[in-house]
Amino acid sequence: MMYEPVIGLEIHVQLKTKTKMFCGCPTHDSAVAPNEHVCPICLGHPGVLPVVNETAVRYGVLMGLALNCTIAEHSKFDRKNYFYPDLPKAYQISQYDLPIAVKGYLEIEIPGSGSDRSTARIGITRAHLEEDAAKNLHSGGAATYVDFNRGGTPLIEIVTEPDFRSSQEAKIFLQELRLIARYLGISDADMEKGHLRCDANISMRVIDEQGGIVGARFNPKTEVKNLNSFKHVQNALEYEIKRQTKLWEAGTPPMESTTRGWNDTQNITEEQRSKEEAADYRYFPEPDIPPLALKELADELVGKLPELPAARRTRFISEYGLKASDARQICDDPALADFVEHVFSELHAWLLALPELQETEETVLNREKEKLGRLVAGWLLSKLGGLMVERGIDVRTMKISAENFAEFITLIATKKLNNTAGLEVLDAMLDDGNDPTHIMEDRGLGRMDDEGALAELVKQTIESYPAEVARYKAGEEQLLQYLIGMVMKASEGTADPGITKNMLLVELNNE
Ligand code: ADP
Ligand code: ZN
Ligand code: MG
Repeated sequence: MMYEPVIGLEIHVQLKTKTKMFCGCPTHDSAVAPNEHVCPICLGHPGVLPVVNETAVRYGVLMGLALNCTIAEHSKFDRKNYFYPDLPKAYQISQYDLPIAVKGYLEIEIPGSGSDRSTARIGITRAHLEEDAAKNLHSGGAATYVDFNRGGTPLIEIVTEPDFRSSQEAKIFLQELRLIARYLGISDADMEKGHLRCDANISMRVIDEQGGIVGARFNPKTEVKNLNSFKHVQNALEYEIKRQTKLWEAGTPPMESTTRGWNDTQNITEEQRSKEEAADYRYFPEPDIPPLALKELADELVGKLPELPAARRTRFISEYGLKASDARQICDDPALADFVEHVFSELHAWLLALPELQETEETVLNREKEKLGRLVAGWLLSKLGGLMVERGIDVRTMKISAENFAEFITLIATKKLNNTAGLEVLDAMLDDGNDPTHIMEDRGLGRMDDEGALAELVKQTIESYPAEVARYKAGEEQLLQYLIGMVMKASEGTADPGITKNMLLVELNNE
């Protein structure tokens, strides 16, 4: 028997509005003391009237559109009743039968092995707006405290179809969703900070050798609640796949849907009291909030949707000649992607103005663009990236402007700077943001163009290392590299390694 996992996610994303969902309180920020950002509305005093936050509705509609959903022409809020200390009204204002968005999808790419498909289209069942609950703080002793700063913060809940077939797919989806939220500017979607929270639903089903479903298409699921990091999501799902597969193999598959919690210290899921599941929320329409008419807003926002991560990656590959993996790495950080965009606009302008490229064919031009693409990716991601990590800075805080970085790339592309000297120039650029040509000239790092001087250094080197020269001549060819290194060193890194190598070969053969 073979089994395959069936997984669906329920995700809460905190919306980055200035004020709460139904009152004027500032949305919480960890810098303030508990219970500072509260008012009679978000504390659930009797007789108060909630007013819908328009920005939250806009953000919700934007997310719905980005997930290819149909935006409801008519939507409304409902009361979801339950009794718990983090919910002062004893109901949460949420949406039940008329959510703002339904029936969408998101395409994800699944790299590498371990998965039998390279892309997947994950159906979005619905997305609705609601308010967050307050935060319970367990003291460790007998007491539990409640901080109402978070209570009433706008959330969008996104429910997917059970379309994932591995824990990896679920993780990739969540990461893409986080990126979309950031591109839309509607949430920082930081899981560690609780901006993005996930419940994962999982069941197993029997499949045959060809992957065809044998028996029931869907079986009773287990819901793992409150996963607050990508790692927890993946680990919890992996754990459930193993646990449930064992139950199937023992002939005792789960017979009813259950709820479990993730125990991060023991790396296991634990059964939660099933009483909670039987909760009857007695949904009914929120009488204090008029229904929403969303058609006009949806029409307006379709036109304002920014370029989303997937489209941007595709464009970076085709326009800038970047490799798919580099384009992904760059587009994962919107600030870095903006920087790269600016760098290429400078570089392509430079390229098109080169006299030798006038009236060349499109294909030649594209090859040149691709070369520049590789050069930028290499210098930006590995070299500059490494220097920034060492210094604990990133593209937002570094001093190098896109213009100066583009100029730097042209110096490398035209071989005015070799790699060793290039690294030194880049490091100096990070110090004070100076332009690379100046740094290069100030430090005498430009390529040694004076062939007479270089020839002299080559001669001196051969004289200084007679033993190595003799071994080279006796057949130890790897010593050529050593001698090149010695010339480079004598030139303080300014010699061109290619020319040095040729000169050395000529001299060594002449001797
Ligand atoms: P519930 O009635 O428990 O809320 P829903 O049908 O609303 O269940 O689905 C909640 C989530 O569980 C969705 O993300 C959905 O994709 C997922 N889901 C539903 N059925 C299954 C199943 N048999 N196995 C795994 N996930 C499922
Ligand atoms: Zn309030
Ligand atoms: Mg449900």
